Amino acid sequence: MSWLYVPASEASNSACNSPTIIADRLAMTSGAERQRLWRERHPEQSKSRCREYHARNRESVLDRKKQYYQDVRKAADQTSDGRLKDRNRKARRRSLSKSGHVTAEEWETILAAHDHRCAYCRTNDLALEMDHVTPLSKGGQHCATNIVPACKPCNSKKGAR
Ligand SMILES: [Zn+2]
Repeated sequence: MSWLYVPASEASNSACNSPTIIADRLAMTSGAERQRLWRERHPEQSKSRCREYHARNRESVLDRKKQYYQDVRKAADQTSDGRLKDRNRKARRRSLSKSGHVTAEEWETILAAHDHRCAYCRTNDLALEMDHVTPLSKGGQHCATNIVPACKPCNSKKGAR
């Protein structure tokens, strides 16, 4: 008898014909209940069946997940908001490449000039990020003279203004 699944017809024809078991079987109404009881009686087989299912379906489960994220991504790109964000990203990248850059040494000099503290709240407990004094969105340049160190909270507060 296959342990993969016990159909009702096969179960009632099986060798176990003791009256109590038959009574049990008659009491099992739903298929889910029958499966639950079967699992209770065959814990080991049930476990290996479970393992087998996952091994067999691993690929397709991963594929389904991947497909899901692709669909979500595609849907986002199709909304005007998604397109706008994409345009902003590209514009920002273009402007960064046009308006020079800040070398690691320049950033170190800026940090030293500010005593390795946030330019706004003067904390030195948090990691410092480059903050553009004149925001890039307002024509500021990504260069040493337009950059001060800022902690994350100050930087994001400023970005919202
Ligand atoms: Zn700060």
